[in-house]
Amino acid sequence: MYRKNEGANTEYRMKTGKLFVLSGPSGVGKGTLRQHALNNAPNLKYSISCTTRKPREGETDGVEYRFISHSQFQEYISRELFLEYAHVHEDYYGTLKADVISELEAGHDVLLEIDVQGALQVKEKMPGAVLIFVAPPSVEVLTQRLTGRHTDSEESVKVRLGNAIGELALKDKYDYVIVNDDLDSACEELRKIIL
Ligand code: 5GP
Repeated sequence: MYRKNEGANTEYRMKTGKLFVLSGPSGVGKGTLRQHALNNAPNLKYSISCTTRKPREGETDGVEYRFISHSQFQEYISRELFLEYAHVHEDYYGTLKADVISELEAGHDVLLEIDVQGALQVKEKMPGAVLIFVAPPSVEVLTQRLTGRHTDSEESVKVRLGNAIGELALKDKYDYVIVNDDLDSACEELRKIIL
């Protein structure tokens, strides 16, 4: 926080945090990179998204996501509570405006892990946001990673791979592109960008 003296008026201003947006195709390793960044940047807070997707095994409401119904999601849209939202793969995902603003105003940096459509909406509303794209070394490697993790159905893997091509085409709109061919180097690159 800093204090600015202007004659008799004393103005207090909080230093606001910085917003980082991490995107990249499903299976590229965003989750691991995100966790590494959160473990290594004490001032960085993760914003938990809302989704209409059903929880996967091991996921808990309020931890990975806020799992909400379609009607609740619709209500949040009409009340303009989202900073951004998008239909991704087969479900809706969105970031609550109030969560992000309150953390930034408290002086914390905030990390969003969201898709490309959402990231571009954020950049339009908050041009100071830093957009970081995580790319796979190749589409072949991404295919192997997605089919190998066994968290999604065959149909879902197909949808995710199709969307990956579209997302990769938009990576030039990002401030930084990290190619995740070596996890340790990718983690270090992300840490440097954030710090
Ligand atoms: P998953 O279902 O695998 O957890 O996530 C699917 C995709 O949705 C990922 O690309 C993830 O980054 C994206 N996503 C997660 N939360 C949000 C969000 O709040 N907004 C948007 N636009 N995308 C999100």
